Amino acid sequence: MKIIEAEEFIEYLERLSILEAKNSDADSRTKDFFGKKYICGCGKKHIFSEKTGILWRRKLSGAFVLIDKNCDFANYVEGTGIFKLGLKTVYSSNVKKSYELWKKNNK
Ligand SMILES: [Zn+2]
Repeated sequence: MKIIEAEEFIEYLERLSILEAKNSDADSRTKDFFGKKYICGCGKKHIFSEKTGILWRRKLSGAFVLIDKNCDFANYVEGTGIFKLGLKTVYSSNVKKSYELWKKNNK
């Protein structure tokens, strides 16, 4: 897992067209990952659940940008495994300030 600057993280998301995806309805594939832990840039592990904020997800595959309610870090995680699923954090970034700003500009 690599911790990157918020600006860099958001640029990366934009490249994936992540910020366009406003539909955050959980599909069945997403639910498969509920209960799995992922390593966060804050140093803790968080559990992916209904309460986790999903900023983006890739349709029909396990890749998400997750933000825990009680944490300032957003994490780009990819699903691993076929029979035993897990979540692997690829990038993590403290995005709180930028995210608030982005939300304001994208209402
Ligand atoms: Zn965290």
